[in-house]
Amino acid sequence: MKTFDEVVDFHGHSCPGLALGYRVSLRALKEFGRRSKDEEIVAVVENNSCAVDAVQLMTGCTFGKGNLIFRDYGKQVYTFFKRPSGKQVRISIDWKKPEENGEEEAMWERYLKGDHSAKVIKFVHDRKATKTRSILEADEKELMTVTKGRENLPPEAEIYRSIACERCGEKAAEPKVRIKDGKIVCIPCYDSASRRR
Ligand SMILES: [Zn+2]
Ligand SMILES: [Zn+2]
Repeated sequence: MKTFDEVVDFHGHSCPGLALGYRVSLRALKEFGRRSKDEEIVAVVENNSCAVDAVQLMTGCTFGKGNLIFRDYGKQVYTFFKRPSGKQVRISIDWKKPEENGEEEAMWERYLKGDHSAKVIKFVHDRKATKTRSILEADEKELMTVTKGRENLPPEAEIYRSIACERCGEKAAEPKVRIKDGKIVCIPCYDSASRRR
């Protein structure tokens, strides 16, 4: 099992989001046992925050292997499936950040408005460290809602035929190409052609 320090190493910094992802992953692994070597676990993540880096390193669910599925819902919800059983655990984060007093809120305001003075930076850094610690130490019950079930698995990673774009010549997966003025083109070529109009 990876430690939080190893996760920080992978991600590049320590932050509250990463701590959430770490706790979520620990919970999923508690359910499923070991790390995914070859698509044993599939993770469906409903955001693309720092937390997902922890999920990738901890559970072995990665974009490259096709067992990390991103749904752009902007929600702190993580669902893990085990293959081939379809056993499922859904984790929804309901952690509330520690209350802030007026002075602290004012400091955040300064930071968001672009004040990067040493005093403000130190404040932000300390607050983040406090939040991170509070997440790492929180009781599971105050951190997340866990529901278990069994559901249809998301489809296995699919391999598609690649088609050469008729504009730039680069290849793209078949379901991703578009038709532009009767030509088969890749998405970037499709988009740039539309912008020129
Ligand atoms: Zn981060
Ligand atoms: Zn192209």
